[in-house]
Amino acid sequence: MLLSGKTALITGAARGIGKAIAQCFAAEGADIAITDLAYDEVAQETEKELLATGIKAKAYASNAADFENAQAIVQQVAEDFGHIDILVNNAGITRDGLLMRMTEAQWDMVINVNLKSVFCMTKAVQPLMLRQRGGSIINISSVVGVSGNAGQANYAASKAGIIGFTKSVAKEIGSRNIRCNAIAPGFILTGMTASLPEEKLKQWTDQIPLRRGGTPEDVAKAALFLASDLSAYISGQVLHVCGGMTC
Ligand code: NAD
Repeated sequence: MLLSGKTALITGAARGIGKAIAQCFAAEGADIAITDLAYDEVAQETEKELLATGIKAKAYASNAADFENAQAIVQQVAEDFGHIDILVNNAGITRDGLLMRMTEAQWDMVINVNLKSVFCMTKAVQPLMLRQRGGSIINISSVVGVSGNAGQANYAASKAGIIGFTKSVAKEIGSRNIRCNAIAPGFILTGMTASLPEEKLKQWTDQIPLRRGGTPEDVAKAALFLASDLSAYISGQVLHVCGGMTC
C-alpha cells in the first residue's frame, strides 16, 4: 500500500478526475477528505463508495476559492483526521469563448475558481505541512496552460498561472520536505468534456498520438505517483498526462 497512514484532501472531488484520484488513493490505503461546492447526492454517493473500501472518508461542502472557507475547511479536516499529508488542488471550471466575446465575468470566474483556489487551499494547508515537516501538494493544471487554446484564454491563463505557482511554492518549502508538483492532463473524458459534439471529439482524438481520450484513472495514477514516496525526489515539475499530445 503506497499511501497507508496518509490523509489526502482533494478539492472538487465529488465527480470526474477528483473522484478518480480519491478512489485510487483509497485503494492504496489513504484516508480521504473530499470537498465540493455542495454536499449533494453526488458528493454523498462518492463518500459512500469511499467508505465502502474500508478507509476513513468524509465529504465537505466548500468553495475552494473562498479564502476564509478554505482556512476553515482545512482546520476542520485536520481536526477530523489528525493530519493532512497530501493536498490535491483539483477543483476547476471552464467558461469558454473567444476573447472578442469573453465577458469580464467569464474571465473573473475562471481565474477565481481555477487559480485563486490553489492559492487559498495551499496557503491554508502550508502551516500544517510545515509543522509536520512533510507533505505533497499536487495541482491540476492542463496542457492548454502550456500550449494555449483558441476559445480558452481565461482557462489557459489560469492553468499557466498554476504552473508558475507550483514552481515557486516548490522552491519556498522544499527545505521542509514538502513537495509541490502539477499535472497537466490533456483531453480527459469527464463531465467537463461530455458536452462536446461528436465531431469535435473526433477532431481532438485525431490529434492525440495514442488516439484516444484519457480516462480520469489515467490522471489518478499520475497523481498517485506524485503523492507517494515513489516520487520522493521530484518537486516543481509538471507531469503531462495527455497521450503524447504535447511534448
Ligand atoms: P468536472 O467538472 O467533472 O469536476 C470538477 C468538480 O469541481 C465538480 O464536481 C465541481 O462541482 C467542482 N468545483 C467547481 N468549482 C468548485 C469550487 N469553487 N470549489 C470546490 N469545488 C468546485 O471536471 P474534471 O474534468 O473532473 O476536471 C477536474 C480538474 O481537471 C479541473 O481542474 C480541470 O480544469 C482539470 N482538467 C480537466 C481536463 C479534462 O479534459 N476533463 C483536462 C485538463 C485539466
